[in-house]
Amino acid sequence: MNLPANHGGPGDPGLTWDNRFAALGSAFYTRLEPVPLPAPYWVGTSPGLARELGLDARWLESDAALHAFSGNTSLPGSEPLASVYSGHQFGVWAGQLGDGRALLLGGLQTPQGPMELQLKGSGLTPYSRMGDGRAVLRSSIREFLCSEAMHALGIPTTRALCITGSPEPVRREAIETAAVVTRVAPSFIRFGHFEHFAARGQFDELRQLADHVIEHFYPEALEGTGFDGNRYAALLQAVSERTAALVAQWQAVGFCHGVLNTDNMSILGLTIDYGPFQFLDAFDPDHICNHSDHQGRYAFMQQPPVVYWNLYRLGQALQPLIGDPAVAMAALESFKALFPAEFMARMRAKLGLTTAHDDDDTLIDGLLHLLADNAVDYPIFWRRLSHAVAAGDFEPVRDLFADRVGWDRWMLSFQELQALTGRAQDANLMLKINPRYVLRNHLGEQAIRAAQEGNYSEVHALQTLLERPFDDHPGFEAHAGFPPDWARHISISCSS
Ligand code: AMP
Ligand code: MG
Repeated sequence: MNLPANHGGPGDPGLTWDNRFAALGSAFYTRLEPVPLPAPYWVGTSPGLARELGLDARWLESDAALHAFSGNTSLPGSEPLASVYSGHQFGVWAGQLGDGRALLLGGLQTPQGPMELQLKGSGLTPYSRMGDGRAVLRSSIREFLCSEAMHALGIPTTRALCITGSPEPVRREAIETAAVVTRVAPSFIRFGHFEHFAARGQFDELRQLADHVIEHFYPEALEGTGFDGNRYAALLQAVSERTAALVAQWQAVGFCHGVLNTDNMSILGLTIDYGPFQFLDAFDPDHICNHSDHQGRYAFMQQPPVVYWNLYRLGQALQPLIGDPAVAMAALESFKALFPAEFMARMRAKLGLTTAHDDDDTLIDGLLHLLADNAVDYPIFWRRLSHAVAAGDFEPVRDLFADRVGWDRWMLSFQELQALTGRAQDANLMLKINPRYVLRNHLGEQAIRAAQEGNYSEVHALQTLLERPFDDHPGFEAHAGFPPDWARHISISCSS
């Protein structure tokens, strides 16, 4: 449905809405209004994103915006709805899930193209199951900061426009308070949306959803190139490719998502649903960031295979549209080829290398083993290495290893390969790909503790650092330092 721009009236920011998801029809969602929150207050906004969206910065600071993004008033032209999806959770079919605490407000026409706005934590929906429809301040600060941090790192993600809080009590392990994050993405469609209609045998809706996604986000799949005109196979391949590129970025930067259920997989290859995520401190391939993940299904090194497993479920869901299972399998193959290529490209860039050599695999594998064996801090290693290449002094890097001989041996083989290939390391490239600042758990935790006391300055400080993670920010050296001992005891589990 195309609605004209709305102008005038208090609280009307004159947004131009184009609610394409709502236009899919009632099989896909339930329309409802958010549940109001008492005494809302601002925790933070993202002026950079507001600018990208063409929003008036003054309006974003207004009471009208505060109430709209807390779910207390509606934005003229929005059509709030909770979408229905299903999914596999921890490897098991979970049946119907859906937006249990999120509401899609609708789509906006922006200078970046169409963008959807979604409130997370806006109250009960028909899909809330046992939940209360709320999100707590703690987890909302993590989502807000990490969304914008990932974007600044160049990693595809849903964005966060703002976060509001309320004194409304929310019961978790202890009593906490409520918050709402306004998320922004071209679409919030998940693998689980497809699984939902496939599992119910609603193949007309399945086709409608696939056609919607192809039309708006994967127009290149329309011709079905490479698949005898089968556009749904081409879609599966394109999604596999975007997803492979995404996971390669996670692995290279040391990001652990924590809950890679199929309902937390974006059809656009975006990082979505920030929960117990963690940026690695010491490099540990087996690191489990989700306290509830007892089997380590979503451990750091398991992410690429588990994401392939999720793509396979998407392939099964698309099967009724694709037809021949062998064709679906062929479409999925692209992940297996692309993930290693994308990962190696990232790792080479982290090493400052602009050309490839056959021995790079072995070399990088050896380095990762060395980092794991010595429990070397992952971000600090790469940042020190970048400075070492710039300054020609590798001692600060060597100091990070208990096994100095191991490091010397690796350096020797690296230098031999460099001599053989005539390659040089590009220190500038390294400083632009190896961040100085990442949202480590303890940094988030410090900001959360202050915010819970009503002090949001650390949220804002972190936001500033993470918006420009490759820059040096004088006075904030400690934020780029080693984690304190207590960081190891921070425990974060699924929904909060
Ligand atoms: P998550 O683990 O956050 O991806 O959530 C899985 C499912 O549970 C989704 O359908 C969520 O909407 C729903 N959910 C999580 N937390 C809550 C909550 N507090 N209230 C209602 N639904 C929730
Ligand atoms: Mg989720």
